[in-house]
Amino acid sequence: MSFQVHAKDLLGRVGTIRTKSGAFDTPHMFPVLDPYHQVLDQKFFDGARIGAVMTNAYLLKRGQRASEPPDVHTTLGFNKSVATDSGAYQILQYGGVQVKPAEIIEYQERIGSDIGVILDVPTGFRSDPSRARWTVDETVRRADAALESMTREDILWMGPVQGGVHLREVERSAREMSKRDFPIYALGSPTELMESQRYDILADMVVAAKSNLPKGKPLHLFGAGHPVLFPFLVALGCDLFDSAAYALYARVGRYLTSEGTQLLGDMVEFACPCPACADLSPAEVLNSDPKQRELRLIQHNLWACFSELRRIREAIRRGRLWELLESRARVHPALMDCFARVRTHSGLLESFTPVVKPHGIFHLSASSEDRPEALRYRAKLSRSTDERGKTVLVLPGRWRRPFHEDPRYQVVANSFDDHRNVSICYYSPSWGPVPIELDETFPIAQAEGRDLGDADLYQSKAEDVTLFVMTLRPRSVILVSHGDFGRRVTEAMRKTLGKRRVVVLDGEKLKPQAIIKSVERRISTDA
Ligand SMILES: [Zn+2]
Repeated sequence: MSFQVHAKDLLGRVGTIRTKSGAFDTPHMFPVLDPYHQVLDQKFFDGARIGAVMTNAYLLKRGQRASEPPDVHTTLGFNKSVATDSGAYQILQYGGVQVKPAEIIEYQERIGSDIGVILDVPTGFRSDPSRARWTVDETVRRADAALESMTREDILWMGPVQGGVHLREVERSAREMSKRDFPIYALGSPTELMESQRYDILADMVVAAKSNLPKGKPLHLFGAGHPVLFPFLVALGCDLFDSAAYALYARVGRYLTSEGTQLLGDMVEFACPCPACADLSPAEVLNSDPKQRELRLIQHNLWACFSELRRIREAIRRGRLWELLESRARVHPALMDCFARVRTHSGLLESFTPVVKPHGIFHLSASSEDRPEALRYRAKLSRSTDERGKTVLVLPGRWRRPFHEDPRYQVVANSFDDHRNVSICYYSPSWGPVPIELDETFPIAQAEGRDLGDADLYQSKAEDVTLFVMTLRPRSVILVSHGDFGRRVTEAMRKTLGKRRVVVLDGEKLKPQAIIKSVERRISTDA
């Protein structure tokens, strides 16, 4: 029984969890099965390559009168990994039923769960700070009691983190739970936040837990089951989810996609290639027998969840999880907010992202500024100021990579690249200042960017270029202005350094030889 990590990007990772009943890939969502209303069989799970499911141990215990309950795999008709929830949530809902932590542990051991959950006390959405504090303390007490009573060593137990929307309590809970050796940690109470689309608070909660838990252990998020959220939650460090949403949505004709939920009745064609959508039209499914319709939707909804999880795993392997977030953020305003909140944790995301990536990256929009590679580039830039006290030649860097191979200014760059009194710096609409020494390094040379023509972005990049050139303490600056961005850089440069210290050459009118002559003249004046 183990958790092995194969690839990482942001706080996300691709891993394998091994239990006594088999292995499955993470990020993973446990489809929550109702033991008394089984609609899917082993054949479906095998076909969809779903290697682990979850069911509720409390409901199972309540419904079984036999003194010796059967193995949970037999009950569910599922021969791979089965996780069981302690049912703490139901216990609270049905009103303070007294079940001892040890009883739930013993029951999960008896039915042969592969992954179990101790009996925690969910904080919920509406708890005040003192109630939240109590749920954290009580969950810790129950964790200690549970750890005492465990007898089987072949079950992976989840240690739940509580605290709800009270982030200090979430942090404290995570710190307390991490002192106790659980193979998996889990974060509770996010369901209402997801239902009310408060994804920003959800993101903060996940970060509060994640930053205080052991890095090498998987993190489970209770009750998350919509594919639109998976990329963001994985990027923040969640490895596991569980949900019955796929079935609850199916019951009311809701069709899950990576871009949101649709009503079956509103659809004309299925764009999904899954087996449940392949041979019928939405109208045919809608008009079929209600049981068949529900089954189709259940199957499709699971395919939608799992294909998104596979897409996320591929994105992590390729080092392109950020690009996936950029595109998913654009499917709904609430996800844009979620992404904005994820971006506020960019420092944390950076510290977990591999320095070397298998593929180049894309600079897509202003939000790409917060990606780990951009953060690292700016840090590297601030350290690369050994070119001080020279004449700085500022050239446009935009049409091709590396910038010094751009035919428009290649001759100019070549003429002064080795000149001891000249330092060359490009101005790029994606990266701002790019000194020629960094022109061929990652990520500059491996990034595909585009000129967004965005006035605000031009302005902030023009200011970045000016600030960087200032750190070089230049004798003088020769700027080759080209296009709107060039004009912005000119304005920013002149405003800060003064008109007399900046020579501006019009790159759109002057031939390279004329530029070279002007630069030579200026260097001789400087000397
Ligand atoms: Zn489908």
